[in-house]
Amino acid sequence: MLLKDKVAIISGGSRGIGRAVALELANEGADIAFNYLKSEDRALEVKKEIESKGRKALIFKSDVKNLAQMKNMVNETKEKFGRLDIIVNNAGILRDKALMLMGVEDWEDVISTNLSGAFNLIKAAIVTLMKEKQGNIINITSVAGIKGMPRQVNYSASKAGLVGMTKALAKEVASYNIRVNAIAPGYIDTDMVGGLKENHKTELMKRIPLNRFGTPDEVAKVVTFLASERSKYITGQVISIDGGLAI
Ligand code: NAP
Repeated sequence: MLLKDKVAIISGGSRGIGRAVALELANEGADIAFNYLKSEDRALEVKKEIESKGRKALIFKSDVKNLAQMKNMVNETKEKFGRLDIIVNNAGILRDKALMLMGVEDWEDVISTNLSGAFNLIKAAIVTLMKEKQGNIINITSVAGIKGMPRQVNYSASKAGLVGMTKALAKEVASYNIRVNAIAPGYIDTDMVGGLKENHKTELMKRIPLNRFGTPDEVAKVVTFLASERSKYITGQVISIDGGLAI
């Protein structure tokens, strides 16, 4: 087991990539705390699945946009599980529109969830990790944050912001033995891309050298690698998991 008795907090663990990360880290021996915003039933199912693997699970109905709620999640996790090792900033949303039609709300919702949300969870956890003199932070960015995507000015900006945050923080906390890395998925088969029409998906696949969408599991395996000792000399990096899309 790569993460025996480690403790991980994941934002947005009820569905998609966050769910797969929660289950995969539990497979590798970690106890898991995660939050979700709306999908209560699905969050409870993930909790049960984690527990069926013999690991502990805590779930929080809370909003990454709210710093006080993130502090509460970190404090309760520490209290119940006794330590903290891994933070995965996964919660994210889309509000895709051409810039000329994009409202201020579309901009602010995406920035405050995807970018400020990660800031809030890190801010809530960083002193604990610094005191422990160890830790791993993994931010889920996107190919959009590297290449920029049309109709996703808000989303691309939020994800590019996460890349900058990852690199700056990696330098800032390296001396505390805390590593900070990011993963940039391409198209991954979750609810987030579920709304795409079949002919649009076929068109998109033509642009992906490996000619298919990825799976949440394929992302989760790399999160596990980055959270484990196997990557102990890697920090400040952005690893693309995109079938070659960003080449
Ligand atoms: P998803 O299936 O839509 O799931 C999003 C998760 O985030 C859900 O668990 C959701 O909880 C949670 N969430 C959303 N807003 C939240 C908030 N304010 N506070 C707490 N939790 C919140 O998305 P996904 O495809 O798994 O994407 C996960 C991450 O990967 C996102 O950051 C996304 O930008 C990134 N990504 C995805 C793809 C892709 O192709 N799927 C590609 C590149 C990057 P509720 O359901 O309870 O609201």
